[in-house]
Order: sequence, then structure tokens, then C-alpha cells
Amino acid sequence: MTEFEAGRPLVLRNGTVLPMDGRRVLTETDVLVTGDKIAAIGPRLEVPEGTAEIDASGGIVMPGMIDTHRHMWQTAMRGYGADWTLTQYFVWYYLEYGKLFRPEDVHAGNTLAAIEALDAGVTTVVDWSHGLRTPDHADAAVDALQAVPGRYVLAYGNIQAPPAEWTTAPEFRDFVRRRITGDDMLGFQIAFDVTGDPSFPEKPAFEVARDLGVNVTTHAGVWGATSDEGIRLMYEHGFMTPGTVYVHAASLSADSYNRIAATGGSISVSTESEQSAGQGYPPTWAIRLHGIPVSLSMDTSVWWSGDLFSAMRTTLGADRAREHLEAQAKGETVTHAALRADQVVHWATRGGADAIGRDDLGVIEPGKKADIVLIKNDHSPVSFPLLNPFGHVVFQAQRGDVHTVLVNGRVVKHEHRLVGIDLAAARAQVDRTVEYLRGELGEEAWEKGMNPDIPTTKVLDNPYTYTDYRSDATHRR
Ligand SMILES: [Zn+2]
Repeated sequence: MTEFEAGRPLVLRNGTVLPMDGRRVLTETDVLVTGDKIAAIGPRLEVPEGTAEIDASGGIVMPGMIDTHRHMWQTAMRGYGADWTLTQYFVWYYLEYGKLFRPEDVHAGNTLAAIEALDAGVTTVVDWSHGLRTPDHADAAVDALQAVPGRYVLAYGNIQAPPAEWTTAPEFRDFVRRRITGDDMLGFQIAFDVTGDPSFPEKPAFEVARDLGVNVTTHAGVWGATSDEGIRLMYEHGFMTPGTVYVHAASLSADSYNRIAATGGSISVSTESEQSAGQGYPPTWAIRLHGIPVSLSMDTSVWWSGDLFSAMRTTLGADRAREHLEAQAKGETVTHAALRADQVVHWATRGGADAIGRDDLGVIEPGKKADIVLIKNDHSPVSFPLLNPFGHVVFQAQRGDVHTVLVNGRVVKHEHRLVGIDLAAARAQVDRTVEYLRGELGEEAWEKGMNPDIPTTKVLDNPYTYTDYRSDATHRR
């Protein structure tokens, strides 16, 4: 598509702009992009000769969304685990079948996840890549990310070996040297969990991170898996640093939250995940009282959606549900909601940028990177009236309304279509992975894995059933 060729300036005309510098909304405003940056914002901007134009009228222009925790390699199994608990997930990936994944399977999952993110207006994803059991797997993960024009952070992990083992292996250092070159489009973190074992076996892995000057991301406060003990060990050994991202943090004590707040870390909340897997109640209602910075994440498409509209919506709903529940348990009524729509939009954009240490992302401001989303759908009855733009983003909009996406100044989606993305090739890769895994598992294990046993639920006795409506002939089916 020559319309948006590289180097040609671009202006989004006449949109409702959310700059994400507080609750400010700019109506009938233009955003000019030159190169990889936002050049100007304002009404009826004068633009350079030859600037491409996108009509943003009736739409919302906001920063690209940032997901701080997604296991992209698992996207090749999209939807398979919809009815899982966390226990079933651990058995399937950690104990039984995660080790079957070959480099090409990681590549397939990452490719589809990367494309899916762009389509939904998620311009930066932290790839919490804990299936990297060899450096070849890691190379495949990065190859996939670099072939799709989004912004990524590879959070290198390996659930098949102890963190102290794989982080200290020479191949790991070699990988970092070869592939992590300071490219603006590919950041790096180290991803592992802290079990709470009093001997603190993860200590060498933290030392490697410190040595390399990179941040650690860790599933913390996951019911039945990681606890306050892990936080305490990290704190006492001096490894709770400002760049550390604690994922879920849904079953921690106030003491642990105080340690996170005091050391400047942030929490990545995956509400869709916490609501159905069982890490603990989605924690924003608690952690916002501690002043801990929040970002949002989707965790994995093996269960849930890969879009942050859903993350924003479920997070706001879960927070308010808890606030009502806590008040009503005391016989009180919440008359004013504490958490507002603009705050969760902030978490989905600037909150993510802060979590990964990028002050040039997550805002619409001259000089910042041009990672921009236009939400606009002229064919949708849900696109108007546009009275409360933050509320619209959270409760009305969805991924199908993502009209245009820019990453680093480049148009990657326009008029609801991905630009320059080979979806057929991605599908062929994923088909091969599914076929391979299905063959390795065998039909019985495959079916059983997807359809866990349902515990029997006894319907409670009901004192009002002395006349049973079901005995009435008119209700008989
Ligand atoms: Zn996770």
C-alpha cells in the first residue's frame, strides 16, 4: 500500500483525542505524525506537503495499548483451555505437554499472538515467554516477533528448568549478546517465579538480571503457587527493584503490598485470568489503596481473549464488584464509585509504558513515539453518540472497532484491515503445530485435556417446591 509509504507524514484529522495526561479530552483535534514520532496535536493543523490523511471524525484517537504479560507461545492453542483451572493449566503445560513444544511451535504461537495484538490496538506486548527450553526456542520466539511490526519485550523464561540453571548457562548469555541489541522495538526482561523455598534457590537468577541490568517479571501472589514468602525473600535479599513487574499479586498480604509500594515496583493485573483461573480476586481494589502502579495484561489466549478492551472492562467491573461487596458486608452502600473509566484506560496505556520503563510510549504528545490507535466504526450503531470517550473505550468499544493502528509511525492496520500481514502463512504454521501436538497427545488425551471432568453440583433443597410447577402438564417438555 503506497498510500502510507515509509517516510510520508500522516495526519489523523478531526478526532476525539485522549492524550492520557489525566482526564483531558480534545475534540475535533488533529494528530500529525512524522517519521516514528508524534509531531503536533491541535485543531486544523497545517501539515507538510504530501501528508497522508486519515479521517478520524466520529472516532477516538488514543495511545496504542500495552500488555505487560502475555504468554504468546500459547496462542497456538487458542481457546483449548477455556474450562481449565490453574491446576489443570499447570498440569498440561508445566508437567505434561509444555516440553513437547518445538521451536517452530513457539514461532507459530508468537506469530499469531503478535498479529492478534496489532489487530486489537495493542501496540506493545511483553512476551512472557516461559516455554524457552533451549536457545533455539528463544531464537524462534524472537524471529517471530521481529517479523511482525509491533513493539515487544521478550521476557525470557523456561518452566522446564530451575531459574538458577538456565539463567547461568553460557547459551543464555550468548543469546542475550546475539539477539538483544538495544533495538527500540525489542526490549528484554527475565521471567521466573519465586517459590518461597527458604533456601531462596532463585537468588542466582536475580544476580544474573542485576548483572545484565535487566528487570525481572514474576508471577507473585498466585494462590497455591507463590506467596508472601517469595516477596519476603526478594525483599530481604535486595532484589525488589523499581523495574520489577509483579504479575497477578492477587493473594498477598498488606505487608507484601507495602514492600512492593516502598520499592517502586508495579503490578500487572490480568483480571480475566484471575477471575476464572483462581490466582486470587483481581487485586486493583486492594492495591490502589497502597498506591502501587498498575498495568493490565491478558495472560494467555489458551483460555482468554487477547485484547485489552476486555481487560479494561473486566478490571473496572471486578473492582466495583468488590467495592460493593465489601461495603454491603458491613451493611453499607457505595454511592460514589472510586474507580473511574479513565483510570483503567490509563492503566492500559501509560500504566504499561511506566511498567516497562518507556516514558516515550502510552501518551499522545509531541515528541513521543507514534504508537496510536483510532477507534472508529461508521457501520456500528454503538459508535454514537460519543458523549463520554473514556467510558466509551471501556464499556462500548471492542476490537472490531479498531479502525487504524500505527506502531513507530507505521500504519499496520487501516480501515479495519491489517496492512502487510500474511495471515494465511500464520494460519498454516499454527495448523501444523496443532496437528503435531494432537498427534503427540493422541485423541483421548487431547479430548480429555480440553474437557476436564465436571464436579457434581447438588441442587439445593427448596422449601417452596411443595407444588412442583414441573408436574403441570403445560410445562411438560
Ligand atoms: Zn502468566
